[in-house]
Amino acid sequence: MPKNSQTGNQTCPCGSGEDYADCCQPFHDGVAMPERAEELMRSRYSAFALQKIDYLKDTLWPKYQPGFDAFATAKWAAENHWSGLTILATEAGLARDRRGTVLFEARYLAGGRLNSHRELSLFRKKADRWYYVEALPEK
Ligand SMILES: [Zn+2]
Repeated sequence: MPKNSQTGNQTCPCGSGEDYADCCQPFHDGVAMPERAEELMRSRYSAFALQKIDYLKDTLWPKYQPGFDAFATAKWAAENHWSGLTILATEAGLARDRRGTVLFEARYLAGGRLNSHRELSLFRKKADRWYYVEALPEK
């Protein structure tokens, strides 16, 4: 299992199979922006795994950023061991779109038990940049 060290050739926590440096790191470092909603989804999962809390706030829909609880999010991210992400479905969210949804399952160990968080996430674009808006009810 890859360690969450941030140096060297580390496999990206998002499960793409790519090196972190070639996958989510450029997004986390602010040197590139996700072109597709799925890329933002993956990079937000990686941000949980690597406890990049500022990134989670910055990629939240601007209207919701003032309500972002960095302390609670940091605590939750740190207490869990993030062990895998599966993208189950995507709808729109491509470079030319303005909105998109991603259905995913994130697995994590908490208190010695394997849990999973399944969510249909809504993403929207503003000023050419993708943001996570909210969880939608699954149809
Ligand atoms: Zn990645």
